[in-house]
Amino acid sequence: MLVLKFGGTSVGKPERMRKIANLVTETPGKKVVVLSALSGTTNALVTIGDFLLKGDLDAAEKEITVLEKHYQAFVSELYTSENFKAIGQEIVSRFFIFIRLLAAGHPDSYRDDDKSYRELLAQGELISTELFYQHLLERKINTRLLPALHFMSIDENEEPELEKIAQRLKPLLKSLEHVDIIITQGYICRNHKNEIDNLKRGGSDYTASLLGAAIGAEEIQIWTDIDGMHNNDPRIVQKTYPISELTFDEASELAYFGAKILHPSTIVPAQKYNVPVRLKNTMDENAPGTLISNKETKSVFKAVAAKDGITAINIKSSRMLMAYGFLRRVFEIFEQYKTPIDMISTSEVAVSLTIDQAANLDKIVDELRTFSHVEIDPNQTIVSIVGHRIGNQKGVLDKIFSCLAEVPVRMVSVGGSYNNISILVDTQYKEQVLVQLNAGVFNLA
Ligand code: ASP
Ligand code: MG
Repeated sequence: MLVLKFGGTSVGKPERMRKIANLVTETPGKKVVVLSALSGTTNALVTIGDFLLKGDLDAAEKEITVLEKHYQAFVSELYTSENFKAIGQEIVSRFFIFIRLLAAGHPDSYRDDDKSYRELLAQGELISTELFYQHLLERKINTRLLPALHFMSIDENEEPELEKIAQRLKPLLKSLEHVDIIITQGYICRNHKNEIDNLKRGGSDYTASLLGAAIGAEEIQIWTDIDGMHNNDPRIVQKTYPISELTFDEASELAYFGAKILHPSTIVPAQKYNVPVRLKNTMDENAPGTLISNKETKSVFKAVAAKDGITAINIKSSRMLMAYGFLRRVFEIFEQYKTPIDMISTSEVAVSLTIDQAANLDKIVDELRTFSHVEIDPNQTIVSIVGHRIGNQKGVLDKIFSCLAEVPVRMVSVGGSYNNISILVDTQYKEQVLVQLNAGVFNLA
């Protein structure tokens, strides 16, 4: 079984949706197709939810009307027969009746952690999969919808319950044995209260990986609008190229440290069950894309990724000198406020570390100040250079730093992982760093 996931832009226009229908039917074997919402829909639903949160029903209704019109036009173009056009319009009006019903709820029910808000966000994937399902039916393809809300779940810490997901999928897939193309929703799931929830923005990739791991798929294919993971950020650097092969570890680091093509948790379940992940381009099906597996390929410099919005915290204390237990105290504070630390670098009397979730920064700093001197640097960027055993090879550091001679580097992390060297710079230097690394390390000027 193959798992094929298509993102918002791959289904965002009627002709694109038709194109992926071709692609899916031409791919041999049985497959599960995971779809995102049409591009722009989840953003629109967030906007609607935020207006409702503020109690601004008029503004919400305006957005709902715009979105509804978009879907009406989409449907009238997607289907060819009058019969299916009517089915499509029925689906759209059913969804928008429900969205207005949700909107009519009390504003208090739209707090960020609330049920109605999350239910609203789920409508994008629910409608895209229904429309695609009807499109395949119109083409007389042997297909079924498998609701993600019947098997995808997260626990009280918002962690996917992979074992349970696998258990639930067994009988469901058995009952669909005779079906060629099974369609399901990305992103949405149930939480420990059995309410509708989601796997966070961009979470459809994660759905595909969880699903592929749970059913022991042959391969998980993530179809987007770029021909794989690139060696550098193509939005910033002119010459970049797709990397043909990466290990799970290398791809994880790149996704976590800023490669926008993948949701950062995607690789975890695939790696655990050793299911290869292939990144493919809907606009150029024949491009080889990127294959992520446990196979190592030897190039030392594979890719560079950058993650913005980082805060650096420097913690200095004379009590750290020749003492033990100091770092434990520091880490406990971050743990208490559920704030992950990305980079860390220590000297005898000071430690610098970085976080990307600054929501509890003030409280963290207050507690740190009870026993140390604290300085904060906001607006930092982590640039990660990833490659095969890059962390312990001769000449690597020299090559990296000789092209960054003009850049003040705030922190460096080497040796934590064999396949990653990370540096921290003020965000104003990010572009310069990416461009100079592209020239100096990848010889792409
Ligand atoms: N539709 C969701 C989002 O826009 C999930 C996804 O596309 O992966 O974040
Ligand atoms: Mg995405």
